[in-house]
Amino acid sequence: MKRRPINILKPLVLVIFIALIVHSSQGLAADIPSEVTLFRNVNIFDGRSDKLLMGYDVLVVKNLIKKVARNIQISDTYEIDVKTGGFKEVSSGGHTCDFMTSGSMIVTVYEPEKMIKKEVKVNIIDGKGRTLMPGLIDAHWHTMLNFWPLSKVFSADFGLLSIAAGKASRETLLRGFTTVRDAGGNVFPVKKATDAGLIDGPRIYPSGPYIGQTSGHGDFRGPNDVPENPGTPLDYMQRVGHTLIADGVPDVIKRSREILRMGASQIKAMAGGGVSSLYDPLDVTEYTFEEAKAVCDVARTWNTYVMIHANTDAAIRQWIEAGAMSVEHGFFIEEETARLMGKKSVWWSMQPMSVGDEDAFKFESPVSTAKYEQVVAGLEKVIALTRKYKVKTAFGTDMLFDPALAAKQGKFLAKMKKWYTPYEALKMATYDNAQLLKLCGPRDPYPGELGVVKEGALADLILVNGNPLQDLDLVADPEKNFIVIMKDGKIYKSTVN
Ligand SMILES: [Zn+2]
Repeated sequence: MKRRPINILKPLVLVIFIALIVHSSQGLAADIPSEVTLFRNVNIFDGRSDKLLMGYDVLVVKNLIKKVARNIQISDTYEIDVKTGGFKEVSSGGHTCDFMTSGSMIVTVYEPEKMIKKEVKVNIIDGKGRTLMPGLIDAHWHTMLNFWPLSKVFSADFGLLSIAAGKASRETLLRGFTTVRDAGGNVFPVKKATDAGLIDGPRIYPSGPYIGQTSGHGDFRGPNDVPENPGTPLDYMQRVGHTLIADGVPDVIKRSREILRMGASQIKAMAGGGVSSLYDPLDVTEYTFEEAKAVCDVARTWNTYVMIHANTDAAIRQWIEAGAMSVEHGFFIEEETARLMGKKSVWWSMQPMSVGDEDAFKFESPVSTAKYEQVVAGLEKVIALTRKYKVKTAFGTDMLFDPALAAKQGKFLAKMKKWYTPYEALKMATYDNAQLLKLCGPRDPYPGELGVVKEGALADLILVNGNPLQDLDLVADPEKNFIVIMKDGKIYKSTVN
């Protein structure tokens, strides 16, 4: 579309009105952002609509998207309420731009009497008609478990593992995944370090240790560790908080509460036979109904929800009836259960896994490889059923124990084109996934809107070289095609010149 040429010498004037009565202006100054970002001339995929908004500008102030409009006037005056984050255009200002450096402007913020004068740097990113979209969300990620082989995770010093996970977490962010729902493992140190700005990484919705039964998917004890005497110390995986084994209603209640006490935003429960575990055949339903209900009741009383690892129809059915709201994998769902999920608005968190090609998961144990091939064979059928019954569907990768696989996170999103339109896949990995994350209600570590480009939403944004709604493969090569990656208003990558 035709656009007004931008006169970069015109000043952008940001007037920060302070809504609070304060004792010293020094305290206030800290609340005013030192810089803002203006994306110019971008086509927006907003996370929800299949139509791009053509030729828009997006203004980011602090960590929020403040304005989405055509031709945001750089000579206008904006009032920003620092307390509430509110934003409105008030009038044209009459100030001069001090000087300009490499695409950024330094402007002086004048404030009448009670206000503070402050220089605000404006990063102007000329989108040149590229696509601006919400940061990607992976609904099933294991921050602690995706980059080393299983045997190394089990034997590694936890401090070392956390440092390595922090490094890997930065790579996740640089693939454009600005948020992950962590599906198990002691991710709390990495999450806290990320949120505190010590390391770079995505937002993390942590499950912490997953809860599982003796001989369940979370039981990684050695072959000779049972029978267990009462009072036997916890094994390493439990001690460091990757997993917790609990049996019987009182015990699962206690462990579930401990998990929430650690800071989990939702509880991850092992509800049926798993692939990487060696003592639970795939057909096994894990926990009795009473135990399952006890886990779900604890989550409910904490105003959050339970996500379950499950594949068989029986396991899924039992846990849905017990109150679980998110079914991970679910490769063997049958018709009636899919119908029930649709009716109860239970989510299916799908992984586009494959067998016999370069993207097939590899396991150290042949037992796991055989199980993997068996579950993945169910994928086509479950996609058909969930479509038929309009089951809410989330996208996740569940990358495990292999850095080469983790690096394919975006490629796995691109693989979705086999079953979904690019629009459906991208909406799933942005807006839809965000709705699933928000089921954790008041346990939400990042209150605010995610997965959308709209005024007031958290500023997690990707500038894509091309239109992913037309060519989903663009997301498979983030290094080349994602030229700006922003999380929480901060730019982590920019190759715009
Ligand atoms: Zn998983």
